[in-house]
Amino acid sequence: MSLHGTYDPQNIFALIIKGDAPCFKLYEDDDVLAFLDLFPQSYGHTLVVPKRAAARNMLDIDPDNLCKMMLAVQKLTRVLVDELQPEGVQVAQFNGAPAGQTVFHIHMHIVPRYAGQGLGMHAANKADVAELEKLQARLVARIRG
Ligand code: AMP
Repeated sequence: MSLHGTYDPQNIFALIIKGDAPCFKLYEDDDVLAFLDLFPQSYGHTLVVPKRAAARNMLDIDPDNLCKMMLAVQKLTRVLVDELQPEGVQVAQFNGAPAGQTVFHIHMHIVPRYAGQGLGMHAANKADVAELEKLQARLVARIRG
């Protein structure tokens, strides 16, 4: 059952954390990694993952890694709102396939919301890579100040 399975160390986010798969990285420290969603639901859709937690979801993760992930989520949410000026922002997390989870390494979604614009489909349409590179450069510059 997807809510209660065993952690798969070959999942795509584990590979990204190890450097074995690419990502459009925005921020990294010893504990967390933040990168742009490759199939974004809005402009600036960002994912925050804990690096040291072999946890599939909110039920598995230890409190220390959970706190570190959430502190990074707040930091990245502030950056995205400052730089992209959306009228709203969704912070979301899914547990188990019936809840919408498709990658089984815990992560938070930060999804800027723009007035009058609906959300793209979840994990469906790959972004234009050149656009992601431009956005990555813009956000990294803002993070570095
Ligand atoms: P979830 O469905 O909540 O597990 O979210 C997984 C998210 O990861 C989706 O929004 C996907 O678009 C995104 N995603 C899947 N593979 C990659 C990847 N290689 N790089 C960046 N984002 C990805």
